[in-house]
Amino acid sequence: MHRVISELADSELKGKKVLIRVDYNVSVNGGSVGEDFRIRMTLPTIEYLIKRQCKIILITHLGRPTERQIQYSLAPVAKRLSEMIGDSKVKFTSSRIGEEALLETNKMEEGTVLLLENLRFYKEEELNDPLFSSELASLADIYVNDAFSTSHRKHSSTYGAAKLFEIKLAGFNLQKEVQYLSMIRDNPDKPLIIVLGGAKIKDKIGALENLLPKADRVLIGGAAAYTFLKAKGINTGNSLIDLDHIGWVTKALSTFSEKIMLPTDHVISSSADNGLAAMVKGDIPDGMMGLDIGHETVQRYSTEVGGRGSGTVLWNGPMGLFEFGMFSNGTINVAKSMALAYWRGSKTLVGGGDTLEAMRRAGVSENEVSHVSTGGGASLRFLAGDEMPGLSVLSEK
Ligand code: AMP
Repeated sequence: MHRVISELADSELKGKKVLIRVDYNVSVNGGSVGEDFRIRMTLPTIEYLIKRQCKIILITHLGRPTERQIQYSLAPVAKRLSEMIGDSKVKFTSSRIGEEALLETNKMEEGTVLLLENLRFYKEEELNDPLFSSELASLADIYVNDAFSTSHRKHSSTYGAAKLFEIKLAGFNLQKEVQYLSMIRDNPDKPLIIVLGGAKIKDKIGALENLLPKADRVLIGGAAAYTFLKAKGINTGNSLIDLDHIGWVTKALSTFSEKIMLPTDHVISSSADNGLAAMVKGDIPDGMMGLDIGHETVQRYSTEVGGRGSGTVLWNGPMGLFEFGMFSNGTINVAKSMALAYWRGSKTLVGGGDTLEAMRRAGVSENEVSHVSTGGGASLRFLAGDEMPGLSVLSEK
């Protein structure tokens, strides 16, 4: 089992250089940060270490740059972080990782923060390059991972560098995420209700396989639902279908038919952007696509999610093409029902960037969910029981 930063005595932390892998992969437009939830959620770890007079070195990726591209610079992120923590405490450096950055970290004062430039400006990061890993590791005395969302990746910053530290710890944010997801995976408060939407069935099969035997109800929505409906012989028109996984879906339906709930009515259109939509029950006519769950389904799903006030509800993936207002009703209503479930006493967990955006649109705040997971992909892998290099490395001797 890994250790958490609070398990170290203050005397073991004082004056130490601490390298923290965070996930500040936020949206940056015109040089300023949009949504900053991922930054805010790292404050408990950072401020805990500031109080203990550490020298905090933050590393993260942003976007998918192919080289040093100014639009992927972390300078705007540093600005937002300094607005939160205080100008005098936060510095940003574009010094190259290696000798240059080492000189900067050696000049740091206790209780200050230095954000290094985007890790993906170095192709070595994703290659888990040994030299790059050792350069990162040479910057600090202690390693902390507070980025659950990137812990399924075996990169230098999540794995290779971490491996080289004698003291490697989990940050508070990572720990909270692991605790909630472990609870759901291994010992959920019953009943366990799972709401699964989105388009990519492939990403969700592992988690479903692991959770279906434990779940009491699995509510399927989004494009994923049409593969299930097709497997049942229902006409799905031009809806998005994943033929590669229809065999798995057919098997899941026959084994767990009493648990799996599917949409019975749909908001349909001939295309996403022609401004026209209709509601149908049952089969979807040829030439039309299902783009959201219909009113009757919203009602059934909302009752399952929000009506109980006990057990656990896990939600991953939108119920429809919610980026378009006319296909967002299902997703927004599930978000509202999640809030009701929370207030009635259920443990609720929401994962994935889309689902977060849906909560925002529904006017549901992050405080109305027991836990918001920023790592959609990572949480699905964890729930599937897959190896997480960024976590397992923390327990290595
Ligand atoms: P995923 O990454 O698998 O969670 O998929 C999220 C995406 O699925 C979002 O961009 C949604 O707009 C899209 N989506 C959800 N439902 C549908 C649908 N019925 N048809 C097409 N796209 C959908």
